[in-house]
Amino acid sequence: MGTKYRAFYERSIKDPDGFWAEQAKLVDWAKPFAKVLDYSRPPFARWFVGGETNLCHNAVDRHLAGRGAQKALVYLSTEVNEERSFTFAELHAEVQRVAAMMLSLGVRKGDRVIVYMPMIPEACFTILACARIGAIHSVVFGGFAANSLAARIDDARPKLMVTADGGMRAGKSILYKHLVDESLRLAKHPPEKVVIFDRGLDKNMARTAGRDLDYAELRARHMDAQVPVTWLEANEPSYILYTSGTTGKPKGVQRDVGGYAVALAASMKHIYCGEPGETMFTTSDIGWVVGHSYIVYGPLIAGMTTIMYEGVPIRPDPGIWWKIVQDHKASVMFSAPTAIRVLKKSDVSYMRKHDLASLKHLFLAGEPLDEPTHRWIMDALGRPVYDHYWQTETGWPMLTAVPGIEKTEIKFGSPSFPAFGYDLRLLREADAAEAGVDEKAVVAVVPPLPPGCLSTVWGDDERFVDTYFSSFRDKLVYSSFDWGIRDKDGYYFILGRTDDVINTAGHRLGTREIEEAVSMHPAIAECAVVGVSDQVKGQMPLAFAVVKDPARISTPDGRAALEKEVMKTVDDAIGAIARPRRIHFVTLLPKTRSGKTLRRSIQALAEGRDPGDLTTIEDPGALEQIKTALGGGQ
Ligand code: ATP
Ligand code: MG
Repeated sequence: MGTKYRAFYERSIKDPDGFWAEQAKLVDWAKPFAKVLDYSRPPFARWFVGGETNLCHNAVDRHLAGRGAQKALVYLSTEVNEERSFTFAELHAEVQRVAAMMLSLGVRKGDRVIVYMPMIPEACFTILACARIGAIHSVVFGGFAANSLAARIDDARPKLMVTADGGMRAGKSILYKHLVDESLRLAKHPPEKVVIFDRGLDKNMARTAGRDLDYAELRARHMDAQVPVTWLEANEPSYILYTSGTTGKPKGVQRDVGGYAVALAASMKHIYCGEPGETMFTTSDIGWVVGHSYIVYGPLIAGMTTIMYEGVPIRPDPGIWWKIVQDHKASVMFSAPTAIRVLKKSDVSYMRKHDLASLKHLFLAGEPLDEPTHRWIMDALGRPVYDHYWQTETGWPMLTAVPGIEKTEIKFGSPSFPAFGYDLRLLREADAAEAGVDEKAVVAVVPPLPPGCLSTVWGDDERFVDTYFSSFRDKLVYSSFDWGIRDKDGYYFILGRTDDVINTAGHRLGTREIEEAVSMHPAIAECAVVGVSDQVKGQMPLAFAVVKDPARISTPDGRAALEKEVMKTVDDAIGAIARPRRIHFVTLLPKTRSGKTLRRSIQALAEGRDPGDLTTIEDPGALEQIKTALGGGQ
């Protein structure tokens, strides 16, 4: 940690009131807060108590005076070949139309609205309209299966659902309406009304009279709508967002209004260095936390233009992202390691032929960033590429470099240091004692959690405490359920989830460490390692690797030779103890739609068990490959 950042960070921990009161100036308040922090009921933290503000006001209205004519939102779709953009003034008008339409349907402050939509501007309008009138949005990733959607409906009990006829991905349309109908049949607490934005993707879409309403028709009735902002006390809920469910039943993360606005504004300034008038390009989806924080709210609060891209990184060719950066002069980019690994398979010339002069840096999050991928993208771009670590629960980064304060040196594969406001510790699993240098331990945060983090689990304070604050006996700390390590220079490394551990012959190895070693072999694009039961050693690692050039594994001899080579790479990097029992070669890995590898499902298959709930899987074909590979012997 550099000296400048250290001072900034330490102040945030030692004087949170002073620190956050200062950051709070980055947003508008209709009524000033009486108290920065109320921590009278640990671990529940209430920030900016008594203050009144509104996320939509801060994202839209307050920019009208100076930036009304500046682009606020650019929608680009390589799926339907469409480009639409909206100035702050136009965004303001669209948001008020949707707000008026929701009010006309009886939606009031505190009511929940499920947003089940593809990456189209109307999704952004709907989210901001909810924020404007104090309705609580719960965005569900478009295309989630009917039972996943029904489970979220029953937990959130929405007054309204806003959806579309369908989404598009890699040239294929995913029709939503039958999923919506099915989810409403399954749900015990379905909403009374469903507003559908018709993109013309589903010519045979069925509508239920009295329940299903047309977005365009409603909008036409409210063209000149003026809906004033509803000022909300800082701690009132803004949204519910369910976690990805990589580790089980999704939890309804509830977020506040004031703390979230301040945390986002502070992160935009100090972490992402996004200046008003610049453009941010975040390649996530509005269904995930990254989309909430850094497609919709963060850049708009900062007065930036935000890009909403509907499409994949390799269509029409692997240069599409860089063309977008060039055409829209993006200065800040945010993506995920999984996408970079996809790009890594194609030639850098796709990147190099575009003018990337506007780009300051790229941030990556969502899963471990292996060293070879980090090195590759940073070399290719010639710009700082920052790994940073956070969770749906926290809403903004927990571990990150903070280049707005100090441009500290980047270590490959490391998300650098604790972000300001997080009293982050590495605690030993057994006794919650602090771990030493290079000692693997649980990433934890001493509460109160900073502004922007979850206030509770929706409707279930007990689950909030039980899930997140009960890992260590006699010590109230937030557990991230991830392993981490800190080196002698103070840099952190995330070693995977606390349940992704392989216990082999008494040694506890993180799957991440072995994956990192496998990926060091130049022929490997990415891989997944799981622990499978072994009669002698307890557990053994088993690896599934995607090769860059399929020609290398086109013959049994080629496969065997490469498997040997990769095993040697692991031996050299960690030691023979970590050598996988087998390395199976596949062309893709089973992942959730948010890009996280479904290790638990792979492990289940490898041990001959049921792979579990697969509704969030991106491509079921990936699992078939795992089955085929396993059929050939472990
Ligand atoms: P669930 O909690 O429902 O199982 P999830 O944890 O996959 O789902 P998210 O909140 O989207 O849902 O993901 C957060 C997790 O992603 C972190 O806890 C961590 O395991 C992983 N992660 C995020 N960023 C990084 C990073 N930079 N390096 C390593 N891991 C990361
Ligand atoms: Mg999680």
